[in-house]
Amino acid sequence: MTKSYDVELHQIRKRFGSTTVVDNFNLQVERGECVTFLGPSGCGKTTTLNMLAGFLEPDEGTLIIKGKPMNGVPANKRDLGMVFQTYSLFPHMTVAENVAYGLKLRKVSKSEIETRVRKVLDVVKLPHLTDRYPKQLSGGQRQRIAIARALVTEPSLLLLDEPLSNLDAKLREELREEIKRLQQEIGVTTIFVTHDQEEAMYMSDRIVVLDHGKVEQIGTPEDIYQQPATAFVHEFVGKSNGFQAVITGGDEHHWRLKTTEGMTFSAKRNDRLYNSGDEVSVYVRPEYISLEKVGSMQETAEEAGVNSISGTVKLLSFLGSFIEVIVEAGSHIITVRTNYSPIISFAEGEPVKLSWNAYQANIFPRKEA
Ligand code: ATP
Repeated sequence: MTKSYDVELHQIRKRFGSTTVVDNFNLQVERGECVTFLGPSGCGKTTTLNMLAGFLEPDEGTLIIKGKPMNGVPANKRDLGMVFQTYSLFPHMTVAENVAYGLKLRKVSKSEIETRVRKVLDVVKLPHLTDRYPKQLSGGQRQRIAIARALVTEPSLLLLDEPLSNLDAKLREELREEIKRLQQEIGVTTIFVTHDQEEAMYMSDRIVVLDHGKVEQIGTPEDIYQQPATAFVHEFVGKSNGFQAVITGGDEHHWRLKTTEGMTFSAKRNDRLYNSGDEVSVYVRPEYISLEKVGSMQETAEEAGVNSISGTVKLLSFLGSFIEVIVEAGSHIITVRTNYSPIISFAEGEPVKLSWNAYQANIFPRKEA
């Protein structure tokens, strides 16, 4: 039996003039999933969302929602709930009237409208604000009401376009937690657009990473972070130390490399094959690098498959649950993130040893400049 999906994009392509802004986009979203489109400004996230919403038509490809082809179907016939970055509430209507709007359009009876509006305002925890006008609400409250308005019609699909972008950091965190809880409780299939990678990791069952209109990777937050498919994904999601290097050899487990600054180290072998002399980019996450005082009791012996270099601490930043240490090693500047310890502290100017396992270094063909 073939699996049924709530949303299917088959080879979607969109051009503006001669520029292709969405190129061969393929995706299948299961019922109840929250899938995030993540990528830098201009990568085509909103354009794709607008094609799903019916505000734009694809130039090529098929778009299916709940098994029905949507090409040519107007936005108001797609059974969607939408929340945008800017508060899109009607200023002249009260909260209750705003939330009731979609139900009125659908000619739902007055008593049922009242019941459903009350229920959805309970869900977003704002039942006491029914008679307020949008201008009498805080930014966070307005977005909660916008979410209530999107959910009240029990849509097949919820589309959220950067709904948290205009809120301050604390409120963003609070509201993303609430949206995630709501999404899971109601089980509504959701597409979320953001350029914030932490928000994407937090919200999503799966993330679609986009760059210049092309899908770079589709995967769970863990996949995207631990097994990035491309150098772009490694750089865009999470923090990375990147080195430009040349392959100098290898064995069945590792590639040997020499960075352009002359440092040699090894990286795990993956599916790609390289030849000596191939130019590659190598990435290591700051939290996978361990930091030791030179000559200390903790200093470990050299081991096979472990890369080890010496450097000097340049900058220390205390960030609560961890410390970020910038180390100068030859002409490399390397970022290390290490757990805060009251026993082992580092000082700026101190000589240190950095080490990381070869299997924690990811290697990709060098990007074209
Ligand atoms: P952001 O995070 O900044 O909103 P985005 O990833 O959502 O970016 P889109 O808004 O989808 O990006 O835009 C993708 C590309 O298409 C951009 O280069 C943008 O300038 C271009 N674009 C978007 N809308 C139009 C339009 N109506 N006419 C011409 N070009 C457009």
